[in-house]
Amino acid sequence: MPAYNEAENLPSLLTQLTAQLALLTDRFEVLIVDDGSTDSTAEAIAPWVIQGGVRYLRLSRNFGKEHALTAGIDHARGEVVVLMDADLQHPVEIVAKMLDAWQAGADMVCAARASRADESWTKRAGTALFYWIVNRKGSKVQIPVDAGDFRLMDRRVVDALKSLPERNRFMKGLYAWVGFRTEIIDYQPAERHAGHSSFSLRSLAHLALTGVTAFSNVPLRLWSAVGAVIAVGAIGFGVLIVIEHFVNGHDVPGWATLVTSLMFFSGVQLLSIGILGEYVGRIFDEVKQRPIYLVASEQGSGLAQGETPAP
Ligand code: UDP
Ligand code: MG
Repeated sequence: MPAYNEAENLPSLLTQLTAQLALLTDRFEVLIVDDGSTDSTAEAIAPWVIQGGVRYLRLSRNFGKEHALTAGIDHARGEVVVLMDADLQHPVEIVAKMLDAWQAGADMVCAARASRADESWTKRAGTALFYWIVNRKGSKVQIPVDAGDFRLMDRRVVDALKSLPERNRFMKGLYAWVGFRTEIIDYQPAERHAGHSSFSLRSLAHLALTGVTAFSNVPLRLWSAVGAVIAVGAIGFGVLIVIEHFVNGHDVPGWATLVTSLMFFSGVQLLSIGILGEYVGRIFDEVKQRPIYLVASEQGSGLAQGETPAP
């Protein structure tokens, strides 16, 4: 469970969650990855850590949700791992349904939001555009629409995810990339219990850019196509001018055409260089080989209540 400034949410969430988990099994641990919170998240969690059943992993700073999820996946020890948000938007009852689907043979069970009616039209339009780009025909990895990070994974899926080394992490794409038998359960996310969402439209756009550059070469290829069309158009236009010269015999000054087309094509060139830069920047991130996250401290044995530590 990635948590960034969730001090107000964690106590009630942990009460609900541990009660729910205790109904399902006597062997569970809740792993909270504190993504560099600046509020009293550490104090809120302290009584839970002593009790057992809860582990607390603090990252050295705010790395972002995708990185916090990676830290959680790396440190989780269970046969089954469930990822969920720490703001009570992911109903704990769904975990039971996910576990049923897993027992019925699914390797990964993801909860997809049943409706986006509660979101602004800008966010919905952006989401639609994003999925249209990454899930275009011919792309090998299809990212399920509306399935977020709320999901259950079998140990095999977790190990597969752990073997992916990339720094530019777009988890939704990585879950799809590893494959395995995936089942989708519909749910409706609840309102955030307390606090504010960390994802503004801007940070979502940034995440989408990470997703597109990591899972699609369409933006790179697009410009070869645009360039080809423009070049063919230019040849056609040249032929037209020559014909015009011989048929009508007089040449039009045409400064306006010249200047506007010049501006247009330099714009197109700058844009394509920018797109190249976006990919190059990400290649730079990968070759630097920096760790994806850094752990500052770890607390709690994570053993469920009643269980005794192995000797
Ligand atoms: N989160 C995180 N690091 C961040 C931002 C968010 O670990 O930099 C966690 C946050 O605590 C929550 C989850 O990611 O558990 C989802 O965040 P949020 O509710 O802000 O996003 P939304 O639900 O609006 O997509
Ligand atoms: Mg939320």
